[in-house]
Amino acid sequence: MSMKQKQTYPEYTEKGVRYMMCQCGEYIPVDESAVGVKCSREVTRKMMIMFPELHEEKPRRKSTGRPAGWHFMNEFVDADGNVFHKGKEQPKLKGTLSPTKVKPKKKTKRRTKEQILIDRHKKKKAALKKAKLSGN
Ligand SMILES: [Zn+2]
Repeated sequence: MSMKQKQTYPEYTEKGVRYMMCQCGEYIPVDESAVGVKCSREVTRKMMIMFPELHEEKPRRKSTGRPAGWHFMNEFVDADGNVFHKGKEQPKLKGTLSPTKVKPKKKTKRRTKEQILIDRHKKKKAALKKAKLSGN
């Protein structure tokens, strides 16, 4: 049985600066007390392995088909008939209710500056009309 050897990092010193090799082969300046080194890429890679959820590009809930805030709803029934009361699953009720209809998110069109002005004008006009109607 052999003890696992302590990993040593290749290093060199140039102009008084100590450089140590990362496992990817990159030399990184370190201070004198350093016993190992990891470049930022390695750190990122390690973090991705340890916390993959931090690096997912899209939130997972998109794939569930559940609306935002579904777990705050008094009752929510998903497409499979799972019933939730304020986000808490109610296994006994499974399949007894029809799925909550999820309103598709309206795509909000970005208004152009012109459109904003037109809308503002319309609003003003409507307000004036209303004021005229209510006045004597
Ligand atoms: Zn590296």
